[in-house]
Amino acid sequence: MTRCLHTVGAWRRLRVRADLDNLEIGFVPTLGALHRGHASLIERSLAQNDVTVLSVFLNPTQFSDGADLESYPASFFADRETAERLGVDYLFCPSSEEMYPNGYRYRVVENELSRSLCGEHRPGHFDGVLTVVLKLLHIIRPTRAYFGEKDFQQLELVRGLVRDFFLDVAIVACPTLRHEDGLAVSSRNALLSRPQRRQAALFAALLGSRRQPREIRRELEAKGFEVEYIQDSTHRRFGAVRLGGIRLIDNVPLDSLMEETR
Ligand code: AMP
Repeated sequence: MTRCLHTVGAWRRLRVRADLDNLEIGFVPTLGALHRGHASLIERSLAQNDVTVLSVFLNPTQFSDGADLESYPASFFADRETAERLGVDYLFCPSSEEMYPNGYRYRVVENELSRSLCGEHRPGHFDGVLTVVLKLLHIIRPTRAYFGEKDFQQLELVRGLVRDFFLDVAIVACPTLRHEDGLAVSSRNALLSRPQRRQAALFAALLGSRRQPREIRRELEAKGFEVEYIQDSTHRRFGAVRLGGIRLIDNVPLDSLMEETR
């Protein structure tokens, strides 16, 4: 049975009582609205550790746009059921007050990578991400923490955080889980209408094609997408678009690009 913990104190007491220090702990941090992508991280953690902790926390500091936070799909009861079904041992689901008892006075700021790509379009986003990840890693104290390549920039920044602050945790990168039509599975996909959902597959198809970023941008814009960026960097191609105001991001390794669009 999955045990739910709502406070830092409850988890810390349990960690001592259950003598978890001698066990390998896998940790999967999420914003909730769990889907198959999250499940793939959880399953990896279950396979590699004695105990798996899942966190569901809709972190307000990583949303620079209030409307985006308001519309983010939240489904706590469904998430608890998913955790139960997958065999998660502990579900950590704190309130904002629990995670930010002092407001947002102290924060982690990264000055290079976090300013590019998504960071250019979502100011402060990665400061919020890194701050909450640092807090969560300190609270849970896992052996391994699982992050998806779907958010590749986030994964790289978390790796840097762990290196620069000498955190004693292994970061495990997990491949992007996709729908059959190629669209990366994402909580935000639930906000797309049926026609938008069909159209969204074009984003994945073009990003994974051999066309140049400029051509991809032009084609997506012609099809009604609002393009934030399509950019090649460090052997990967990154993209972020909006479809009817709903933000989609994706990335692929450059050496996987296909000759023809799917
Ligand atoms: P989120 O709840 O969106 O913050 O995601 C929590 C974790 O799940 C992050 O490490 C994401 O990169 C990862 N994740 C989200 N979607 C996918 C996906 N389609 N495939 C693999 N990992 C994912």
